[in-house]
Amino acid sequence: MALVRKIIPQSTVDGPGNRTAVFLQGCNIRCAYCHNPETQAIHDAEAREMSVEEVMAEVRKGIPFIRGITVSGGECMLQAAFLTELFAAVRGLSVETGHPLTCLIDSNGTIPFAHHPELMAYCDGVMLDVKAWDADVYHRLTLSPDNEVVKENLRWLLQHDKLTEVRIVCLPQQAVVTTDVADNLRHIADVFAEAGKRVPVRLLRFRPYGVVGELADTPSTSDTEMSDYASLAQSLGLF
Ligand code: SF4
Repeated sequence: MALVRKIIPQSTVDGPGNRTAVFLQGCNIRCAYCHNPETQAIHDAEAREMSVEEVMAEVRKGIPFIRGITVSGGECMLQAAFLTELFAAVRGLSVETGHPLTCLIDSNGTIPFAHHPELMAYCDGVMLDVKAWDADVYHRLTLSPDNEVVKENLRWLLQHDKLTEVRIVCLPQQAVVTTDVADNLRHIADVFAEAGKRVPVRLLRFRPYGVVGELADTPSTSDTEMSDYASLAQSLGLF
């Protein structure tokens, strides 16, 4: 069983193609820019306990229109055992129907993927949030003590060809909490160079919708800043 916040039967923004997106309840960090703060609590009256079979009944409805499923959160890796069973069931459904379905994870990267070999055998890829490279910046942003596991995950997923994309939320430089996107991009480029592999890096514009707390009144990141980050990413060979 897992605590499910919501299921979007067909989403076009949660990975490649049309996908069933499953959002699990509960997160282990507290990002200042979180636009789904209602998913953070480990238990919430709005979330529903669902079995693998119940989630699979929703996935079945999407065939033949979906290319697979994406599980997000909160932080879905907090319920890794459920993910393993769910992805195994999706694999089984692919075989049964002859309609190939892929299984993706959208994660904040705070739980080591290397510790979950069975899950990773079923998982086709991870969309990894690399929120900030500098540990102090990361701590200020997320209240998490450090981001070493995120960095290890970045390297491990790349090495094992399980990294689908890296995501960075870009905050305005004048915001009371910033993310130092340039520093983050340079370090990610170094990791790609060391591995001799690269995946798409997606720069996401901060928007205040749904955000609570100290960034609630911060304006969206400007076009100029976003285009500066895009130029830097391009010059580093990340696009
Ligand atoms: S990891 Fe995602 S769900 Fe968790 S606090 Fe950060 S933005 Fe919100």
